[in-house]
Amino acid sequence: MMGKVYLIGAGPGAADLITLRGAAILKRAGIVFYDALVHPDTLAFAAQAKLVAVGKRCSRISTDQRFINRNLIEAAAKYAVVVRLKGGDPMLFGRAQEEIEALAAAGVTCEVVPGVTSALAASAEMGVSLTRRGVSRSVTFATPRVGEGEDTSDWAPSVASADTAVLYMAAGQAAELARVLEGQGMSPATPVMIVENASLPDVRQIGTTLRGLRESADLQIHGPALLFFGEVYRERAHALIAAAMLEDHAADERLQRRASPR
Ligand code: SAH
Repeated sequence: MMGKVYLIGAGPGAADLITLRGAAILKRAGIVFYDALVHPDTLAFAAQAKLVAVGKRCSRISTDQRFINRNLIEAAAKYAVVVRLKGGDPMLFGRAQEEIEALAAAGVTCEVVPGVTSALAASAEMGVSLTRRGVSRSVTFATPRVGEGEDTSDWAPSVASADTAVLYMAAGQAAELARVLEGQGMSPATPVMIVENASLPDVRQIGTTLRGLRESADLQIHGPALLFFGEVYRERAHALIAAAMLEDHAADERLQRRASPR
């Protein structure tokens, strides 16, 4: 008897943003292979299961994709319910296709359970809709991250021409990406939002413009983060820019007062 493999979307981080279906399958799982971005509280749904970390968060811990595929196939020979738990939704920048194909080739049954992708959780957090009547009727999900042997240049045109664009796996090289987008004709005044740790207690939102992003030095981003571009972010980004300026001003004043005590 071969087991079944479920590719489950864990959602953006907060444990209660997994689907009821995903949580129910986790409760029945014999073994769970999980990504680095999956929150420990989400793993608690599978208290009875053997837990195997196969995370690849940048280059820190990395597990080869072929190794993961082989593990899933081997686990299906041993366990009735095998779970591959991925951050957000499995079908978006999750390498789900490689796993689906490897399982199919090995004759292992596989089912995908969707999850809330991080861009949607971040949109909820910002309170800004990705689409908006009269302003944005198209959304692009893109990543500048490339796999081996892939062309590096073709992510930018679709981002520059979208009404609203979301970049995954991009915050670490934000200034460089902004330069590329300006080169593609995107206006330097385009509103930009950065959301780090969407749905988690330490969520952070930064508002800027494409020019601001290009001129930014170190954004001090340590958690997973997304970049949002488009007119829908104008008010939100400008409000955060103004708030940051006020804060800088207050800090300057405090410094001055300390330097020249009256
Ligand atoms: N399948 C996932 C994406 C995996 S790629 C999904 O649907 O969300 C990993 C990238 O997702 C990170 O580099 C970051 O850009 C984004 N990401 C994942 N979780 C996030 C979170 N909680 N907040 C902000 N961005 C997140």
